[in-house]
Amino acid sequence: MPHPDPAVRVQDTLRTMEHDGVNPAITDSSTFQFETGNSMTACFDGKLEGCFLYGRHWNPTNLILSRAIAALENSESAWVTASGMAAITNVILQICSSGDHIITSVTSYGGTYAFFKNLLPRFNIEVSFVDISDLSAVEAAIRPATKVIYTESLTNPLLVVADLPKLAGIAHAHGIKLVVDNTFSPMIITPVDHGADVVVHSLTKFINGKSDCIAGVICADTDFISSISDVNSGVSMLLGPVLDPMRSSSIHKNLFTLHIRMQKHGHNAAFIAEKFKSMGYPVIYPGLKSHRQHELMKSLMNPGYGFGGILAVDLGTREKANAFMVGMQKRHIGYLAVSLGYYKTLFSNSGSSTSSEIPEEVQRSMGLSEGLVRISMGLDQDIERTWDGIQESLAELS
Ligand code: PLP
Repeated sequence: MPHPDPAVRVQDTLRTMEHDGVNPAITDSSTFQFETGNSMTACFDGKLEGCFLYGRHWNPTNLILSRAIAALENSESAWVTASGMAAITNVILQICSSGDHIITSVTSYGGTYAFFKNLLPRFNIEVSFVDISDLSAVEAAIRPATKVIYTESLTNPLLVVADLPKLAGIAHAHGIKLVVDNTFSPMIITPVDHGADVVVHSLTKFINGKSDCIAGVICADTDFISSISDVNSGVSMLLGPVLDPMRSSSIHKNLFTLHIRMQKHGHNAAFIAEKFKSMGYPVIYPGLKSHRQHELMKSLMNPGYGFGGILAVDLGTREKANAFMVGMQKRHIGYLAVSLGYYKTLFSNSGSSTSSEIPEEVQRSMGLSEGLVRISMGLDQDIERTWDGIQESLAELS
């Protein structure tokens, strides 16, 4: 039985031998040697266990990171990619062919939205965009050709909580795969435990936590991971978004502090969200009792890791949002920058940045106002002092 705590599962993947370095050695090679021609043939035919044939297929360092993330996500297997978008696009293209259909949450990362909206129609794959919290809308969108229900566990940037057990129930009743992007909630939510078939991450965010690289991962059962890396038909093998082993190694080291970072991000975000709320600002944070899915969030969470490091506050207009962010940056609260999961606070006006791919009328219909500021809370030790700076930045607006 795997341990119920994801951090313990990750720690249990570390095994070193006497005289080994405490960090696994990096395999800095793109190709690997075989004893005989026959063993090379067997490896290409997929008949030889545990062999490495070429770095675009597998590399021992990538395997180490993949195993650790599979442990985090309680999946049988995993494959690391050169970006979060590579993970998402490869999963979809592996599952879907021309004529197939996908149902996706309308609120999701702008790049994901653009891939679904603008790129997939070129391959004759149709996509229905729904409010993922409206389960009857999800069910009503199902067609005979539907292959995937896609959602982020906590959506970007509106922090809608996906009811994963119910979505999995709907998906599996129709032979559909539930694919979940868990970028916002590693450690906090384990989608596989709630029925997800495939989990993807942008490792660029919390899991790496250093904002020094772009990377992603696909977590699924061994059959799926073998299919995406198949030399003849695997989308990942053939499109080639392999992660560099040097980066795999640095992400692997950062992964082992993820549990502590998530606790601190969550503690700080909860503190700031409460403060915004007490001042009467419209604030979205799943840890607030006022969040309409607070109870659902609690039912999905692993104990001990909080409600996540992201909150969103509505300043009303883009001008106010921009002035507020400049004020916060001036006071060294953090950086006016996209991305999330860094040790410093990062903030951006979602509608004009990471969700700008979504047309404004669609943004409004899903509840994304032009003044929304998404804040990825950092690991600040003195969060009261941070709040003082935020308050000063708010006061400047009036
Ligand atoms: N998924 C989510 C929820 C994201 O926020 C992002 C990027 O912001 C991505 C996927 C894409 O990841 P990457 O930038 O690593 O390709």
